[in-house]
Amino acid sequence: MADTDIRSDLERFWAFYQEDVLKEVYTHILEKTGNRPSFDQQPYFKRLSVELWLSEPDYRLGLDEEVVSSLEALHDELYFDTLDFLRGITEIDPAEGDMIPEDSSRYSAPGNILPIFHPSLEGEAAAAQAEGAGARSVPTDEIISPEMCLEIVRRLSSNPGIKSYIAGSFYEGRDIPVLEIFAPLGPYTSLPRLVTAKPTLYMSGRQHANEVSSTNYILRFAELLAQDPEYRSYATKVNFVLHPLENPDGAALAYELQKLTPFHSLHAGRYSSLGMDIGSQTGAARPLLPEAKVRGKLNRKWLPDIYLNLHGYPSHEWVQPFSGYAPYLFRDYWIPRGWFAYFRALSLPLYPDLAEAGQDLQGFIIRGMQARPDIHESNRSFYDRYYRWAARWQPHMNYLERYGGVNLYTKRRSSREERLSERRRITFAEETPELMDETAQGEWLVFLVEQRPGPSA
Ligand SMILES: [Zn+2]
Repeated sequence: MADTDIRSDLERFWAFYQEDVLKEVYTHILEKTGNRPSFDQQPYFKRLSVELWLSEPDYRLGLDEEVVSSLEALHDELYFDTLDFLRGITEIDPAEGDMIPEDSSRYSAPGNILPIFHPSLEGEAAAAQAEGAGARSVPTDEIISPEMCLEIVRRLSSNPGIKSYIAGSFYEGRDIPVLEIFAPLGPYTSLPRLVTAKPTLYMSGRQHANEVSSTNYILRFAELLAQDPEYRSYATKVNFVLHPLENPDGAALAYELQKLTPFHSLHAGRYSSLGMDIGSQTGAARPLLPEAKVRGKLNRKWLPDIYLNLHGYPSHEWVQPFSGYAPYLFRDYWIPRGWFAYFRALSLPLYPDLAEAGQDLQGFIIRGMQARPDIHESNRSFYDRYYRWAARWQPHMNYLERYGGVNLYTKRRSSREERLSERRRITFAEETPELMDETAQGEWLVFLVEQRPGPSA
């Protein structure tokens, strides 16, 4: 009898954890990372929870705060050993070498390890269960509320290539997150050097908060930049400044309303909580709306070469029966006309290099849009319908300006448009894409925000 090894519950659990649980976790990680776990592919999962019901000593000793507790001891083994194991299987990509500190144990971000211990069972049979939850990607089929946006930004920031911070707060006190993505992202970076050495693309979403798709689009784009090898190469060439939700007060309101009427356009979420368009305040020295300061701050900080102001419009006919049927403030938005964009680039002959860059960019957008047959087909049918019912009758107002099947409004429409303002000296191109995203959900939203690598420039 003295020669027989009788294993305690703790030992039996530990063997099960190493033989069964960690092996399965390891297999999952290899599958997910193409057999090459590395820091830039972390996190590997959202959560690994291990729940235990054990009968073990767990009491206070009566000497200061000392305790006798194998339950607590096992909590520490589970937590730290698992993190160590996951750090141990993670390879360092030579390209990342400089960014990773010598002691990388605390730099590793494999996912959340959660040991859950129930109070000691005092003699009853022990049990254990382990459960993993995959890292959830940015949703593309549901509307993102301001709270969800903050949570997603927090989650994305665990990727080593993404820096995020709260850039301000809103009239009703909500936080405004901003993400900055550039490579290499070291502990010390010189902003002037980044701005000089590489072009900067600034993208803001949801100025009009019921135009819902841009938040999904921007956050998904950030996720791809952090995780997809093709997208990651973009971050070595361009600095990305991402401002996913410019108007959280409007977004919170529209989010509540869509629970009641999910397919309505919900224009009450368009402006801020004061009924004022944030866009009217972004240039003001002392804006009434604190949220309007963020765009100005980011413009001054990053001096972006290209600015994308992502917008949307109703996905169906817009009717106001007591003011002339079609919406009197937005007559050209009466019925859908597919994807289109307002594109502004400098074309003054004084600056031929900037004019040429603007032309190049326009061609690049057209080629990118043409590369997607599904978008092409969808646009063709909406453009036809718009022509049939709107453009044909009021060509002075409801026109389409098509280049290779893509509707881009590029021609000069006002005397101020080509003025070389201070801002235009810095930001040579500006685009406002418009998608039929009021109030897109489910498959339609997935279609609107789907992203694939673009054609090479
Ligand atoms: Zn808009």
